[in-house]
Amino acid sequence: MVKLGIIVPCYNEEEALPETVKQLESLICELTDRGKITGDSFVLYVDDGSKDGTWEVITGSNKGYKHVQGLKLAGNVGHQNALLAGLMTVKEEVDAAISIDADLQDDISVIEEMLEKYENGNDIVYGVRAERKSDTFFKRFSAQSFYKLMNMMGAKSIYNHADYRLMSQRAIKGLSQFKERNLFLRGIVPTIGYNSDCVYYARKERMAGESKYPLKKMISFALDGITSFSIKPMNFIMGAGIFMILIAIVAAIYAFHSYITGDVVRGWTTIIWSLWFIGGSIMFSLGLVGQYIGKIYIEVKERPRYIIEERLFCSDDVRDPD
Ligand code: UDP
Ligand code: MG
Repeated sequence: MVKLGIIVPCYNEEEALPETVKQLESLICELTDRGKITGDSFVLYVDDGSKDGTWEVITGSNKGYKHVQGLKLAGNVGHQNALLAGLMTVKEEVDAAISIDADLQDDISVIEEMLEKYENGNDIVYGVRAERKSDTFFKRFSAQSFYKLMNMMGAKSIYNHADYRLMSQRAIKGLSQFKERNLFLRGIVPTIGYNSDCVYYARKERMAGESKYPLKKMISFALDGITSFSIKPMNFIMGAGIFMILIAIVAAIYAFHSYITGDVVRGWTTIIWSLWFIGGSIMFSLGLVGQYIGKIYIEVKERPRYIIEERLFCSDDVRDPD
């Protein structure tokens, strides 16, 4: 039997959490009763430095439910790092771990299917959204363009897969060897290797509370995804540079020709225009190079990616869940 750990990163989720705790608890109980997972399987709620009552909800649930554990991070480190903190915490304790968002937009009823695929020899099972009807048009559009762009840029990522996935213990241990700070799990996990499979589900609406991914975070997440995985933007700039040099050569020949035929004053506008254009493109490429240098800067610091403040284990003297 599988000992399962479910990892739930939570940032200001006091509104959604009580329902999430209830649903996941009854799922664990059901799977235990049916002999799919061991009785000491658990759900680990990672409090990512929330400013609201999230940690109180977690400590309360820890007392009230059998399978609830908590992990409090010392500060807000973001979804990806919070998830990593959870996975690294349980990596010696479970056979497999499933990561899922606290708002339960991802269908928990496919967890059983994930477990089946795991037992059939897959180390990683991706949860893939079959449709995105419940998202707003804008969210759907931006997310989809993001996946397309990512793949165009050559970063491996599973289409329509967020961070809802099962990983076996050895896959998590593999993940622990990736030392980068610019964490983009969706891109990293496929590079671990091992057998993998997908399960499909329809994504629901957020239960309660607001999305913790406003546009600004989404854009920076996308940018991180691309620049952490691909140097294609740099190649593109180089190509554009070569192309511009070719044009410049042609222009020089033309200018020289105009000079000998005595046709010199014309073309001032063109020169001014290209001056600006070249200036602009140089600045753009410098900015892009700066992105990578910025990443090197962050990586070489080798800062810790999270700091754990407290861990709650399942308590023995709890009432049976309803
Ligand atoms: N989250 C987190 N730290 C953050 C932001 C978000 O742990 O700094 C968690 C959040 O609580 C949720 C998950 O990451 O469980 C995904 O966030 P959200 O549902 O707001 O994103 P969306 O589904 O809108 O993309
Ligand atoms: Mg969500």
